[in-house]
Amino acid sequence: MAEEIEQRYDPVVIEPKWQQRWAADPGLYAAEPADCGKPKYYVLEMLPYPSGQLHMGHVRNYAIGDALARQMWMRGYNVLHPMGWDAFGLPAENAALKNHTPPREWTLKNIAAMKRQFLRLGMGFDWATEVTTCMPEYYRWNQWFFLKMYEKGLAYRKKSKVNWCPECATVLANEQVVDGCCWRHEETIVEQRDLVQWFLRITAYAEELLDDLDKLDGWPEKVRTMQRNWIGRSEGTEVDFFLDEGTGNREQGTGAEGTGSEGTGNREQGTGRQADPATSRSNDDLSLGTPVPLRSAQKDSWLEAAKDRKAVRIRVFTTRVDTIFGATSVQLAPQHALVAQLTADNPALKTQVDELIEQQKKAREAGDLGAIEKHGIPTGRVAINPYNGQPVPIWVANYILADYGTGAIMSVPAHDERDFEFATKYGLEIRQVIAPVAEGAATVGQAADRAEEAVLPFVSEDGVLINSGEFDGLTCTDAQILLQSVARSKGFGEAKVTFRLKDWGVSRQRYWGTPIPMIYCERDGIVPVPEDQLPVLLPEAIEITQQGGSPLARVPEFVNVICPMCGGPAKRETDTMDTFVDSSWYFYRYPDAKNATAPFDSKIVKYWFPIDQYIGGVEHAILHLIYSRFWTKVMRDLGLIANDEPVARLFTQGMVIKDGAKMSKSKGNVVSPDDMVARYGADSARMYSLFASPPDRDLDWQEDGVAGVSRFLARVWRLVSKYSAVARAGREDSQSQVSESRPGAPRDQVSGLSLKLLRKMHQTIAKITQDFEGRWHFNTCIAAIMELVNEIQGADAPLAVGAVEAPVMRELLRTVVLLLAPFAPYLAAELWEELGEEGALLRADWPVSDPELAKEDELEIPVQVSGKLVTVVKVAADADGAAMEAAARADEKVKARIAGKTVVKAIVVPGKMVNLVVK
Ligand SMILES: [Zn+2]
Ligand SMILES: [Zn+2]
Repeated sequence: MAEEIEQRYDPVVIEPKWQQRWAADPGLYAAEPADCGKPKYYVLEMLPYPSGQLHMGHVRNYAIGDALARQMWMRGYNVLHPMGWDAFGLPAENAALKNHTPPREWTLKNIAAMKRQFLRLGMGFDWATEVTTCMPEYYRWNQWFFLKMYEKGLAYRKKSKVNWCPECATVLANEQVVDGCCWRHEETIVEQRDLVQWFLRITAYAEELLDDLDKLDGWPEKVRTMQRNWIGRSEGTEVDFFLDEGTGNREQGTGAEGTGSEGTGNREQGTGRQADPATSRSNDDLSLGTPVPLRSAQKDSWLEAAKDRKAVRIRVFTTRVDTIFGATSVQLAPQHALVAQLTADNPALKTQVDELIEQQKKAREAGDLGAIEKHGIPTGRVAINPYNGQPVPIWVANYILADYGTGAIMSVPAHDERDFEFATKYGLEIRQVIAPVAEGAATVGQAADRAEEAVLPFVSEDGVLINSGEFDGLTCTDAQILLQSVARSKGFGEAKVTFRLKDWGVSRQRYWGTPIPMIYCERDGIVPVPEDQLPVLLPEAIEITQQGGSPLARVPEFVNVICPMCGGPAKRETDTMDTFVDSSWYFYRYPDAKNATAPFDSKIVKYWFPIDQYIGGVEHAILHLIYSRFWTKVMRDLGLIANDEPVARLFTQGMVIKDGAKMSKSKGNVVSPDDMVARYGADSARMYSLFASPPDRDLDWQEDGVAGVSRFLARVWRLVSKYSAVARAGREDSQSQVSESRPGAPRDQVSGLSLKLLRKMHQTIAKITQDFEGRWHFNTCIAAIMELVNEIQGADAPLAVGAVEAPVMRELLRTVVLLLAPFAPYLAAELWEELGEEGALLRADWPVSDPELAKEDELEIPVQVSGKLVTVVKVAADADGAAMEAAARADEKVKARIAGKTVVKAIVVPGKMVNLVVK
């Protein structure tokens, strides 16, 4: 303390010194037990993937969270601020392939390197709670959760079409397919393959995941909207059309293979024509029975006959069953099971269908299925509308997707944009069945009369039914309800809520992940690994070839196992879990990271959850942030936790860009945090990342800016060094005045320069405190600290001759240091000591703004005459309305403006403005 600070701000000396001291004090950043009597605050930044090198995006992310954590510590909260590693994943396998380093070794080495960087940056994490997801102590609980979900029917296995990235040589979840390409390999087109996979039944929670978004008012609206769209709920009806078996080998219809208009949309992005894929499986078992001319039967008797004969049903989903009398075709996806049967003995048709499949594939490859040019082929077969027995042609179309909905739709050209486009192109019938209700047209007849006035396609639901038999005259809404109940009672359909959200496919044909704890026995089928045999350990020393297929399948010692049920030989599941499983619940482990008998102690978790503030990139709005909400709800239903949602407040920071592009190795515009730290110090690098733009916006990295922040910190250092002796004397003064509870002096005891500087100081405290609670515009917070420092420095000459009392001087410098502490922790710690203050700065009280001292003596008040700004007048800060009006009227400019007129009204907003209305 007593030794002289060198004459130059030298972060390279200061920072390692404090880093060492902090490392020697493991309690510094440790959370306290629940009974510590303080309010709790759980602040968390998303855990990084251990690539081996922090980048500037990380620095910014963690600088935001660390500033908040430090400020909350100083405000007296019991803060949990942990860190861990999302340590499973593909890059470790790629590195193994490239460098012949085992994934585990590579990963642990990277973790060590990044931890060194974190420590050097001075991030205040509680490393005692560190979680590393590739460790058996952690992933055994992934396996345990998987078994619990299996017990509950939430984990299941099925054969399905999966997204396959040839580059990753593994399956991807729907969420990991971006514009038809792999989320990791932006140029690699995702293929469709049939594989038996494990799924987690996230759709069981679709409704709750959607509804609870309304409760998350601490989340950015943008993220909530993205999740709503992703869940994609739509209400509608599923209806069975019946294959008319008496119309085989019809001549093929009009205009197949036209090369008409541009497509503008597709069913995938449509207004909810999708349905649960489960229902489309019913089409797998179709058999074409004896041909029966169904539609020739009387009224409903054809329907009975069709049901008796188990006629093939083509299930469609529609949100507009009220328009079903306007359906003039049924459109099937090229991969629809019925299409396979229709083409089985029709090679010509098969060739055409194959072309449609090829077009679809190309559109997927181009990344924009929504813009596919619509083509269709008539099959020559006919489907019967179950409501009226009318036949409609069956087409196969390239814009209908097999993996969305039932893979079949009814086409209603008069009341749907895309159907209209398609029907126009191919000359299909357009039959209007909804008429707009003109104002005053209360009767069906009147509405029907108006029908011709509607421009087709008429897509509004604000109308009445026409040309719809006994349903004519019903409103669209009433018709939907009634038609649904008819479908249900006659057994050809039902009301259906569908979701865009699909179950989460978690099987990965990778090595570096959590082994799925399942065993296959020839006698007993699927046998879960008994809980007491967890963890199923990943074998070490395995050769990574990336030849496709699960690497674990090539390890006989892993694969071959004794069946836990019959004791006979059996085989292990060789797929591993999607690494998004790891991050779905990791934050529950932090508060009880060493627990060896459970994923966590529910009591401890109950205290800390929900997370008060979560901070991460908006790119996680869908994947991680939906999966972890799902996991939370499952854990709640398992009785492990009490909270419905994991995160109360979410903050998504902007990206760090340089030269107009996101920093990336391939673009060669990466700025290394190590370089910045070596040249300017960690404080400057951190503070710049907060200063350069509001944290929710993108940050354009400018090295000049880092240098500027560094120069500012040097000025602070010089200022405090210069007056530290005065401040220390002031400290003794204020301590000798025992009666004074607060440092500094009441307003009536200070004046002149002291009052001026204290006023600025209290204004700055108020601004920064408020910003921490709300907007987090740390850029303007730091600018405010700079202004305060400028003002103190600007008074250097009078300060040097003692114009400000020592206790005031002490309070000024002390406050500057306290306000800097969240942003530049190293320098703040150094100067705290220099000022002779005792104890850890992190435990010092956050300064409180005194509104009396913050108040300006005078305010500048804009004066308007009849709403037009005329001038600005100075009034006493506590002036009342009458005094403000008098000051305004006394101003020469105002006098000139109102001369010869009558002031009919004076509008005065105290402390804000005066407006004189004249006539
Ligand atoms: Zn890939
Ligand atoms: Zn067995």
